[in-house]
Amino acid sequence: MTSQRTRLRMVERLRAGGLRDELVLAALASVPRHLFVDEALASRAYEDIALPIGFGQTISAPSTVGRMLELGRAGRLVDRILEIGTGCGYQAAVLSRIAREVHSVERIAALIAKARRVLREARVTNVRIKHADGSPGLAQIAPFDLIVMAAAAPQVPAELADQLSPGGRLVLPVGTREQQLVLVERTGRGFQEQRLEAVNFVPLLPGLSR
Ligand code: SAH
Repeated sequence: MTSQRTRLRMVERLRAGGLRDELVLAALASVPRHLFVDEALASRAYEDIALPIGFGQTISAPSTVGRMLELGRAGRLVDRILEIGTGCGYQAAVLSRIAREVHSVERIAALIAKARRVLREARVTNVRIKHADGSPGLAQIAPFDLIVMAAAAPQVPAELADQLSPGGRLVLPVGTREQQLVLVERTGRGFQEQRLEAVNFVPLLPGLSR
């Protein structure tokens, strides 16, 4: 139930559902999602559903991760990625397969400890996790070719768009009661924003937690 074959079947379903980016599909096929959830949930790890990871947080459905990465990558080779909201580390592991360097920020220390352990077990070596409030991004190590936020912000944080490299993309859920997926692209002349489909993410929260 947790084999490579199960994972490939999941990827075939995502492809049938409209996901087209082969690099993203290959990344999703290679990450053992069952390692990132509680053992009791491992048998459901390859269903296309969000699952609880403790602390009131959830791991996104594979189709959601795929959609955000396909939009964010837009066929480009991305070198450096910033992820806000490490959670269990699953999306970070998928990101690690499509970029050279992944920087991830998480506000709950206990989730970081677990994510680091599982990422090591999954032999992921190019993800750096920082315990911080990710809303202002990581100005010290910007720019990023792609910024992905896994929690919903009330509006697009201006600091984040400023940390994009030229041609860089920011993908995030925006809204409080109703959320929409938003894509911001840094073009030669500034920023271009597109509002896409309705989504359902946990909210971005302020400050740090143990
Ligand atoms: N990408 C994750 C999804 C986790 S859910 C995964 O694959 O599991 C969203 C995460 O965002 C939660 O872990 C939550 O603690 C975190 N989060 C919420 N607000 C945050 C903030 N201001 N800074 C950093 N992380 C935040």
